[in-house]
Amino acid sequence: MKKPLDPKLDWSAYDSYGEGDAYAQIPAEGGAYGKAASLCIGSRQCQRTDVGVMCPSFRLTHDDAHSTRHRAATLKAALNGEYGAQPFIGKELAEAMELCVACKGCKRECPNGVDMAMLRTEALAQRWAALGKIPLREQLTAHLPLFAHHFKLFNWFGSLRSKVPLIAKLMQSWLGIAAKRSLPKAAPRDFMSSAPIISPTENAREVVLLVDTFSNHFDPDIAQAALEVLQAGGYTVHFARPAQGERALCCGRTYFSNGMIDEARAEAVRLVDALWPFVERGLPVIGLEPSCLLMLRDEYYMLDLGERVATVAKAALLLEEFIAREHDAKRLNLPLKAMSGQALVHGHCHQKAFGAMKSMRKVLGLVPELEVEFIEASCCGMAGAFGMEAEHYDTSMQMAELALLPQIRAAGTNNMLIANGTSCRHQIRDGVARQPLHLAQVLRAAINASGD
Ligand code: SF4
Ligand code: SF4
Repeated sequence: MKKPLDPKLDWSAYDSYGEGDAYAQIPAEGGAYGKAASLCIGSRQCQRTDVGVMCPSFRLTHDDAHSTRHRAATLKAALNGEYGAQPFIGKELAEAMELCVACKGCKRECPNGVDMAMLRTEALAQRWAALGKIPLREQLTAHLPLFAHHFKLFNWFGSLRSKVPLIAKLMQSWLGIAAKRSLPKAAPRDFMSSAPIISPTENAREVVLLVDTFSNHFDPDIAQAALEVLQAGGYTVHFARPAQGERALCCGRTYFSNGMIDEARAEAVRLVDALWPFVERGLPVIGLEPSCLLMLRDEYYMLDLGERVATVAKAALLLEEFIAREHDAKRLNLPLKAMSGQALVHGHCHQKAFGAMKSMRKVLGLVPELEVEFIEASCCGMAGAFGMEAEHYDTSMQMAELALLPQIRAAGTNNMLIANGTSCRHQIRDGVARQPLHLAQVLRAAINASGD
């Protein structure tokens, strides 16, 4: 007898998400997971070509087969038993989900709020459960937080691979990592092992800086810049730290994106435990990497983490959101000096999906004389590990070449590039051989500028 579907994520919020016409053809199986897919009523707003929809796969192909609508319809058909007893390992669902980069564009743009990124994660988790194993490449990318601390020991290998094409080709055929893609390079020293412990002074305005796996091990200068900016603004900066003897904290993003829900939940529990003493006192939690910080406001609700989630979610803010909020409340006291020149900004998909680009605009507008232009583009195409995967490399570059890279080239090189996402910076580095800055680094530069 066929076993009923056992969802790995907590879909209960979707049980009563809509009423009446809000759901269309709820499938026989899947309970609230099926209802979440049934929020798609087939209106095809996600396939509009008169306005630039965010969905990067549809933007690229203009093909129904690569749209949110088709993915939702295929998932409903799978839950209705139309693809046999094991739909999660069948080709129909795999093909429909193949080019979904989990950008969250649909959640923001679909009038019914279809969240394909979340639906896809569940489908992936069901796939691994049905297969009884997870491929090596997906395990490697998901387990990054486990070995990030040792990544620097392999920087020599990344350099050698970029000089010896045979190594890159062997790695592609063995692991499925695109030979044409550069490997990320870890910093010689992570940030958190020397992060200062600061005691608050009287009347201090205290904040917690969340240093994610990427900022900690790959871009510690971004965490350092954020610390300096916040201190220059008069804030006392605390850091969430792991329990004694444990490895660095992580939000769980790499596990979640690869459909490893139990591991994502374990990381989330560690992080919520570490943040709780601060959050309980009402301190804001400031994040740097959009896909990491925004997990706390979104995916954590699906991980069955208990009542503390709502309080943590409320405290979680991206650096730009925090500074914009402080500015609006007339509490901001950042000594920003003039920086004449032009800046070209690329927004991370999750910044766009959660409406954080408004804050980026506001905060960059506080830097005197800086001329800021925002790139009109969708996903950069890297999307976590998507652009690293051999079978997706070409599509990833095509996504980047749709708008992002041509606009950067057209603007010349006499400007500053800004991108808050680690994947976006990687894609831009590979695409135009330039290194974008994070907002924190730009603000630090403005604080340290001579102002002439
Ligand atoms: S995903 Fe949203 S916009 Fe697209 S067809 Fe379904 S309901 Fe319409
Ligand atoms: S998450 Fe992004 S790529 Fe996937 S269906 Fe939604 S808009 Fe398209």
